[in-house]
Amino acid sequence: MVVLLIGPPGSGKGTQSARLKQWLGIPSISTGDMLRHEIEEKTALGLEAEKVINKGQLVDDGLVGKMLMARLATPECANGYLLDGYPRTVSQAKFLSQFLESTGRPEPLVLHLEVPSSLLIERISARWSCPRCGHIYNVLNSPPRALGICDDEGEALTQREDDRPEAIRERLDAYQEWTEPVVEYYAKAAYCKIDGNHPPNAVFAAIENCVNQYRLSEDH
Ligand SMILES: [Zn+2]
Repeated sequence: MVVLLIGPPGSGKGTQSARLKQWLGIPSISTGDMLRHEIEEKTALGLEAEKVINKGQLVDDGLVGKMLMARLATPECANGYLLDGYPRTVSQAKFLSQFLESTGRPEPLVLHLEVPSSLLIERISARWSCPRCGHIYNVLNSPPRALGICDDEGEALTQREDDRPEAIRERLDAYQEWTEPVVEYYAKAAYCKIDGNHPPNAVFAAIENCVNQYRLSEDH
C-alpha cells in the first residue's frame, strides 16, 4: 500500500512514521533525506541538485520527481511505501497520481496529522540543548535539574535559531501554505484527518484504525 503522511513540524510525525513503517513493513521515504543522500553519494541527480542549491535556488519538482521515481522502483518498495513530506504542491500530487497509475498502484491513503499551532509553538520552543555535550532537554517533559543549565557539566543551555517561537511561526505559516491545496487535492481520495493532540500511542491507534478501514474498503 501507499501511504502519504502529512503533518506540521513538532506534530510527532517522525515517531508515527517510524511506527507505521515497522507495522506495515514498508519503507518510509522523506524527499528531504532522499535529496541529501543523493548529494552525499554524488549521483548524477545529486550533482544536478547540488548545483541548483549552491545557486541558492529551490530544487524543482521535475528533479525531485525523477529521484523519487528511481527510488520507488527499487525492490525495497515492491510492497508499497510511506511518503513523508511529499507531495508538497498540487503539481507534485498530480505527478504522483500519474506515477501510481502507471505502476499499477491504487490511490494512496492520506494521513493528515493535525495539531493546533499554539501547541506546536509551545512544544518546539520547549527544546533547549547543551552547546558542550549536545544533550537535548525539553522543559515540558525532560527538563534539566536546574533551569537553563546542563545536568552534566553545568553549561548554559541554548536554543536553536529554528526552535525560537518567531522562527516556528514562520515554518508553520509555510507549512500551512503548501498543505492546504494539497489536502484539497486529496479531499475525495482516501483521506483521514488524525487529531495529533494526544499521547503517541493514542495517535497511533487512530492511524491503525484508518489503515484498517482503508484496507477493508478498498481491499488493498
Ligand atoms: Zn552538557
